Amino acid sequence: MAAVLVGENAASQIYVRSKIAACEQLGLGSWLHTPPATVSTAEMLALVAELNARDDVDGILVQLPLPAQVDAKRVLEAVDPAKDVDGFHPVNLGRLVSGRAGLVACTPAGAMEILRRSGIALEGANAAVVGRSDIVGKPMALLLMHANATVTICHSKTRDLPGVVRRADIVVAAIGRAAMVEPDWVRPGATVIDVGINRIIDVAEAERIFAKFPAKLTQFREKGAVLVGDVHPGVAEVAGAITPVPGGVGPMTIAMLMSNTVKAARLRRAHTATKTKTGAVAAQP
Ligand code: NAP
Repeated sequence: MAAVLVGENAASQIYVRSKIAACEQLGLGSWLHTPPATVSTAEMLALVAELNARDDVDGILVQLPLPAQVDAKRVLEAVDPAKDVDGFHPVNLGRLVSGRAGLVACTPAGAMEILRRSGIALEGANAAVVGRSDIVGKPMALLLMHANATVTICHSKTRDLPGVVRRADIVVAAIGRAAMVEPDWVRPGATVIDVGINRIIDVAEAERIFAKFPAKLTQFREKGAVLVGDVHPGVAEVAGAITPVPGGVGPMTIAMLMSNTVKAARLRRAHTATKTKTGAVAAQP
């Protein structure tokens, strides 16, 4: 897996470091490319072209966000769909829409794996996905729909969001707003997937969110910061099942990236071997 990390974004550095560490733990080869924050679109396209051409690279990961001067869509579209382990390429998104096999975005794929392994029934269930981003909300809604849930996609213009969420058997929060989904939004017994990762550094906000969670407040006072999801911690008392933050979806995202890398390697190498057997195209060195 080749990771491309542009500039000095602290959160991106942490994410990429854990992805590289996961490769090392599994014995997968990994390369880290670190272009400077001043990199141009042309330079990024040249790097992606080089990684596309390398036979020893099975997966390419371009860590987002990219600096403003880089055309992120062009760069992501330049990644060979067969090596697109983030599942962001329009070809892979199209495959997902039409229910065909392909590489699926890691965060929603991880959320589905959590639901599957937890034995949560999806067929016929009402699911509310809060958030409609290309990387989380939209693919999540598609995956739930393909699993025969009845899906409502919510966003910033949704009317009576608490009411819509309250009707759901499965709630996925991918909003980017700390503790937004309150306990009285959630139907008792519902399953809640909290995708959000928000770092709280404001004392008043920490005291408001964690008023009933003294251990978290102590952690905040010791470290000056604490992580919280898009779901209020009090929801755990109402939900039938809930993913924790930190933990939960975050580590599963990395696990699915590893899974996608192995899948990409198998598919691409099987494809190359078949072509070689038929003599149509020689395998790359
Ligand atoms: P994003 O691109 O900012 O999208 C946020 C979505 O939430 C948008 O669709 C937006 O609606 C909606 N939204 C914002 N405010 C809202 C409100 N007040 N009411 C209803 N909907 C609202 O975010 P993202 O990339 O999908 O990420 C979402 C969260 O997941 C973030 O906290 C991020 O850190 C986290 N995340 C975690 C992982 C992981 O590995 N665990 C991976 C990726 C992201 P509009 O479309 O109408 O603007």
